[in-house]
Amino acid sequence: MKNVMDLSGKVAVVTGGTRGIGFEIVKKYLQNGAAVVLFGSRQETVEKALAKLHEENAEWKADGLWPNLSKPAEVEEAIHQVKEKYGRLDILVNNAGIAQSTPLYQYTAEEFDKIIDLNVKAVFYTILPAAKIMKEQGGGCIINTSSMVSFTGQPSGVGYPASKYAVNGITVSLARELAKDNIRVNAVAPGVTRTDMVAALPEEMVKRISATIPLGRPGEPEEVANAFLFLASDMAQYVTGEILSVDGAAKG
Ligand code: NAD
Repeated sequence: MKNVMDLSGKVAVVTGGTRGIGFEIVKKYLQNGAAVVLFGSRQETVEKALAKLHEENAEWKADGLWPNLSKPAEVEEAIHQVKEKYGRLDILVNNAGIAQSTPLYQYTAEEFDKIIDLNVKAVFYTILPAAKIMKEQGGGCIINTSSMVSFTGQPSGVGYPASKYAVNGITVSLARELAKDNIRVNAVAPGVTRTDMVAALPEEMVKRISATIPLGRPGEPEEVANAFLFLASDMAQYVTGEILSVDGAAKG
C-alpha cells in the first residue's frame, strides 16, 4: 500500500470542474500526479479553466470536455472518449450541482425537475458507463458530492436536500453492489463552503448558517478538495459507502 496520497498513473474525471470546489479537486488531483479530464457545461469555461491550470503548471495532464449532463448518450460518449484517449478511468468525481432556496409555495415542477436532473440523474448517467470501464480494468473509485443538508434538510428550497439525500442513497447502495468489482463508492458532504454557490444565496441565509458552525467559519474549497484526495487515494482502500462530512461540525 502506498503510504501517501499519490495518484500517479491514475486517470480522473471531475464534473463541474471549472470553478469552485470542482476546480480545487482538479488541482489537488493534478498536484498529486493524476491525469484529469474536467467536465464543464460550456467549451468557453472549460478552456478558461484549462488555461488557468496550465498557467500554474504547464506539465499538468489536464484536459476537458463539455457533455450535456442531462443527456445520457452524450455523457456516455464523453466517458468513452476519456477511456479511448487515456486507456483507463480510475476516479470519477460527480461534483456538478446546483442549489435552490425557493420556498415551497413558490416552487414550480420545472424548478424541481431541474435540480433533480443535474444533482441526481446526471450522477447516475456518469456512473453507468464509468463503472463498466472500472469493472473491466479491475477496479476504480467513484466519489459523489453530497451536502451537509443531506443530514439536516434546510428550511427553504426542498429540492436541494431531496437531491442530496438521493446522492447518499446512490452512494451507499452502489458501494455495496460494486464492492465485488473492486469499485469503491463514497461521497463528501461539505458544509457552507466559500464558492459562487454560496455567494448566490441570500446574505441573511449565509449569516444565519455561518453562526451555527462550531468551527466559526465557512469552509474553503481546498479544505473540501482534501477529502476528495484522501478518498481517491490508496490510503482509503478500505473505505467505501462513506459519506464524509467536511462541515466544521455544523450538522451537529
Ligand atoms: P459552483 O456553483 O461554484 O460550481 C458548480 C459547478 O457545477 C460549476 O463547475 C458548474 O459549471 C457546474 N454546473 C452547474 N450547472 C451545470 C450543468 N447544468 N451542467 C454541467 N455542469 C454544471 O458550486 P460549488 O459550491 O463549487 O458546488 C460544487 C458541489 O458542491 C455541488 O454539487 C454542490 O451541491 C456541493 N456543495 C456545495 C456547498 C457550498 O457551500 N458551496 C455545500 C455543500 C455541497
